[in-house]
Amino acid sequence: MSLIVQKYGGSSMASIERIQHVARRVARTQAAGHKVVVVVSAMAGETDRLLSLSGKISSKPRDREIDVLLATGEQVSIALLALALGEIGVEARSLLGHQVKIVTDNVHGSARIHTIDASPVHECLDRGEVVVVAGFQGVDHEGNITTLGRGGSDLSAVAMAAAVKADACEIYSDVDGIYTTDPNMYAKATKIERISCEEMLELASLGAKVLQARSVEFALKYGVAICCKSTFDDGEGSWVLPDGPGGSMASLEGAVVTGIAADRQAARISVTRIPDRAGAAAELFEPLGREAINVDVIVQTAPQDGHCDLSFTVPKASAKQAQQLLEGLRSELGFAEVRVDDCVAKVSIVGAGMRSQSGVALRCFRALGQAGVNLQLISTSEIKISVVVDERFAEVAVRVLHDAFELDKPQGERKGLHD
Ligand code: ASP
Ligand code: MG
Repeated sequence: MSLIVQKYGGSSMASIERIQHVARRVARTQAAGHKVVVVVSAMAGETDRLLSLSGKISSKPRDREIDVLLATGEQVSIALLALALGEIGVEARSLLGHQVKIVTDNVHGSARIHTIDASPVHECLDRGEVVVVAGFQGVDHEGNITTLGRGGSDLSAVAMAAAVKADACEIYSDVDGIYTTDPNMYAKATKIERISCEEMLELASLGAKVLQARSVEFALKYGVAICCKSTFDDGEGSWVLPDGPGGSMASLEGAVVTGIAADRQAARISVTRIPDRAGAAAELFEPLGREAINVDVIVQTAPQDGHCDLSFTVPKASAKQAQQLLEGLRSELGFAEVRVDDCVAKVSIVGAGMRSQSGVALRCFRALGQAGVNLQLISTSEIKISVVVDERFAEVAVRVLHDAFELDKPQGERKGLHD
């Protein structure tokens, strides 16, 4: 007998019929001999509806009250699912965050989980009940209701799985897994069988709809294996695995690149002819850090006649502000100018196999070059190569890279780099 945590998102809980469908899935899992803890989200659209209600009453609603309000969405879901289970003969008990109990810090709206006391859950399981836990919510040390941030039920599920030492954490939604790239961008995208948490974090933009990034960080830290599946079919889903030494990811021969992400919400900023001295970069980034502007793909040229250029990307929405902040430093730092191009995209290939294989960069740049895609910036990490290109080439870049690394083939059947 194993212990399984199943999480059902808002779309899976969107109507009475869907909740009944979820109840049947849960019943089937229990009938197969497993103990089941279910974590659910509010019914689709409910959290937004509640937020808009608060907006009609208060122009600056207090965070504490917002959390009390939003937590009701999940309270409705757990009660309805427990009732639906009862109707088909499954003993079930619903538990709110403070009953479990999921203790968090007191940062309303984006609370972090401190501890979970899983004993009430185990007591129910030992009685043969299915436990239905409200996602997205917890309680602070003073007993105030808190919420974990939008999409936080994924985190609730992963944290529950860690706390009860579950054998698996299954995350159900209306998509059947994680894809090699956004299928809307390239129809040849295929479902990923297995991906490491590390890769998943790098590909957050691909998985964002499937899995909240914080839940992946948590899974990595606490060694929870996640399986993303569809509520509406019986497919295998995609496994997101914490890497262990010589872990199962390593055995996937030939799978050099696991997925490709394209971020079209990027802008490129270049600061030219910065006098070359220690501390210059820190001074440039200081105001950006202060304003919490997220900086990525930082590239500096080697110094030439006492000057260097520095380029990086920021989210498109922050480009104007970043430009103004940098302009304010010009006389002090003595650089030539700040150039902004907000018609760029950042395309990244990600794969843990890059660590041990050479020739990945060559294959990547060759494919892009042959397709006539000019590269404005290049940056790499151990498991990622990102290129910044003209926004018009984003889709072409994704497609040629997808073909070059044979991501349309099953993970085990892709050719190695030198075959
Ligand atoms: N109901 C919450 C939200 O809409 C939490 C979740 O769905 O995961 O963000
Ligand atoms: Mg969700």
